[in-house]
Amino acid sequence: MIGIIGSGNVGANTAFFLAEKGVDHVTLYDVQEGLAKGKALDMMEAAPIRGYRTTIRGTDNPDEVLDADIVILTAGSVRKPGMKRDALYQENRQIIEGYARKITNMDTKVIIVSEPLDVMTTIFAEKSILPSSQILGLGGLLDATRLRFLIADELKVSMENVAAQVVGRHTDDMILLRDYCCVSGMSIDNFLSEEKIKELFEQTRQAGALIVEMAGRASAYYGPSAVAAELAEAITLDTGRVLSVSQVLNGQFGIEKVALSLPALIGRNGIKQVVEPTLTSGEIETLKQSARLITQTIEEASHA
Ligand code: NAD
Repeated sequence: MIGIIGSGNVGANTAFFLAEKGVDHVTLYDVQEGLAKGKALDMMEAAPIRGYRTTIRGTDNPDEVLDADIVILTAGSVRKPGMKRDALYQENRQIIEGYARKITNMDTKVIIVSEPLDVMTTIFAEKSILPSSQILGLGGLLDATRLRFLIADELKVSMENVAAQVVGRHTDDMILLRDYCCVSGMSIDNFLSEEKIKELFEQTRQAGALIVEMAGRASAYYGPSAVAAELAEAITLDTGRVLSVSQVLNGQFGIEKVALSLPALIGRNGIKQVVEPTLTSGEIETLKQSARLITQTIEEASHA
């Protein structure tokens, strides 16, 4: 069973995508009484037409989701137009720390969505008794998915043909790996000018903020939900996907005890193996600076 904590935009849509994929049964929970039950019922009433092979149910009792095979954490506040993701730390941190202490089934894998993502993944791992290989944050895969869309849309080629890789922090200082961006195995340099590549990379960095600006009252959720469902599927079906996820680093690029996105081989037990892409010295410095900023955010908040 896949448990989803938080049944707002991301939580509910992740449940819907999981049902459409038929990955596993889903239980939704939200602190707002009745919300999870109501949304689950609504989605199940679409089942006769959509033909789900799995069920979605809602509960007001958190204990019914805490020891799920996979827990997807989507509880917390979203940013408003003009707001940086880090500004959500004070608001969301207690929620994440609370669940880190309450999830005690040693077989549970946790997918963290709540922002600021890499900070939340770091503090969740700090407070949790689970091995860090079972704690995955939704960061680089979403950024890479957005970049894939932008490249495919620019070139008017099939999105399936476009591959991209993004590592580092899920903020403006994400690292978009140009040498790993290709169209049907060929470098994007064969298809796009230098200027256009820079423009698409900048659009990817600002993709989340642009949606918040446009939508006004909600942050992005279809893209993030699709990625959360993809990660849960990769774990449940053990399909050997290599995906960029935020994870507590263990010496990679000289960084320890801080979560940042790097590609990882995903399996039934979470992260099977971390894959270190080739980075330039500048990219390694950006990665280290990101790690320092995460540590600083956590330290400053603990003194606030
Ligand atoms: P939302 O406001 O639609 O839903 C959040 C839900 O969390 C609400 O229903 C609220 O009642 C619930 N909640 C609050 N505290 C709770 C608690 N202690 N236990 C259980 N439920 C609780 O927000 P959303 O759009 O679904 O986004 C959810 C989180 O995901 C936000 O922090 C947002 O910033 C983050 N997010 C991250 C990414 C990413 O790329 N990692 C992308 C989109 C959104």
